[in-house]
Amino acid sequence: MPPDATATPTSPAGLRRLAASLDEHEPLRHLPSRYLLPEGLVYLDGNSLGALPRHVPDAVADVVRRQWGEGLVASWNDEGWWQAPQRVGDRVGRLVGAAPGQVVVGDSTSVHLFQCYVAAARLRPGRRVVVADPDAFPTDLHLLSSAARLLDLDVVPARPADVPTLLAARGAEVALVALSEVDYRTGERCDVPALTSAAHGAGALALWDLAHSVGATDVDLDAAGADLAVGCSYKHLCGGPGAPAWVYVASRHQRSVDPPLTGWHGHADPFAMDGRYEAADDVRRMRIGTPPMVSLLALDAALDVFDDVEPSRLRERSTSLVGLLVRALRDVVPELPLAGPGDPALLGGHVAVRSPDAYGVVRALAARGVVGDFRAPDLVRLGVCAPTTTHADLVEGVLALRAVLDAGEHVDPAHAVRSTVT
Ligand SMILES: *Cc1c(COP(=O)(O)O)cnc(C)c1O
Repeated sequence: MPPDATATPTSPAGLRRLAASLDEHEPLRHLPSRYLLPEGLVYLDGNSLGALPRHVPDAVADVVRRQWGEGLVASWNDEGWWQAPQRVGDRVGRLVGAAPGQVVVGDSTSVHLFQCYVAAARLRPGRRVVVADPDAFPTDLHLLSSAARLLDLDVVPARPADVPTLLAARGAEVALVALSEVDYRTGERCDVPALTSAAHGAGALALWDLAHSVGATDVDLDAAGADLAVGCSYKHLCGGPGAPAWVYVASRHQRSVDPPLTGWHGHADPFAMDGRYEAADDVRRMRIGTPPMVSLLALDAALDVFDDVEPSRLRERSTSLVGLLVRALRDVVPELPLAGPGDPALLGGHVAVRSPDAYGVVRALAARGVVGDFRAPDLVRLGVCAPTTTHADLVEGVLALRAVLDAGEHVDPAHAVRSTVT
């Protein structure tokens, strides 16, 4: 249930009791114990870099010492390294409603995006327009702009809510609608099935960026009829810094999709060492070159956490956490307006509030052991990572925010100096 904005605010003690009860009864309450986080830290940034799963250091040590150190080149066969991009891709696919054989893991989200923009335009020759959200994550827009220069496309900006109107007016020119399900700033979700259908109604394709969705929403790519999708592995999936990202190509496009980066791993017969390129006849054609194997296998191990977790249950946990966070923010810091909707059903895995001193707020929170992040120009973004965050973390984080504001710590000049990574 969305919190009722008119109800009497719950006291800090009441919020703590509520959090304790949710943490005691929520069906996936055992998940946080599968991760290592520093004692006492309230980590609300798992949507930037997810926490370390407890068993991953040993799994990575095995990859390095035994598979690399002893197996050496034989591990490409003996440990199934060559097939890992598809095998791990299927494990990620299960979390986003993709039947096996439609996802590969291997390059960064940025690289996969570029592959998809060009591939989509090539699937719709004669159509020159790509519709994209002007408030999308910058890398998405930067790469689209380069693809547009290469292929002489027009990028037409539209917020997700305005896409149907734009398609009604100019649909016949549109090759691709490229959107993120979850707004990386405000957490607001858009309707993937409806917008995918709207794109198809105009004869266009739909590309979904699910960087902030996988592990947080119940997005179902096959059911929505999506054409292409990409997503990150180091956010809610906790695959580790630089974990290779993933790309989805619906089965029906796999024999016709023509990505621009045609490396030997995407070849129909890579070890024929044939100088002429012949693309693999399935999703392998989205592979490029040798992937970062240590990171890929760390991600593979990190995904073990989800083996006994129903994706719909993970979404329910995420919604429960996000709902409590919204309620605590409204009750405890009502002067900071929510940047997105208040209904957790309309949110992904983070919530943002606005403050003119947002940067100072985030620094002062960090000094109190609460890690959130700042998004320019005025957002304090608090991430909920369903497997690792507890309800208690959220209440303690919001109470710390109250304390920061009451003590004026957010306007302390010591918290005004910007680091490289904000
Ligand atoms: C995190 C994120 C990315 C990151 O791209 P990298 O290539 O991993 O740096 C891209 N797009 C969106 C929407 C993101 O949230």
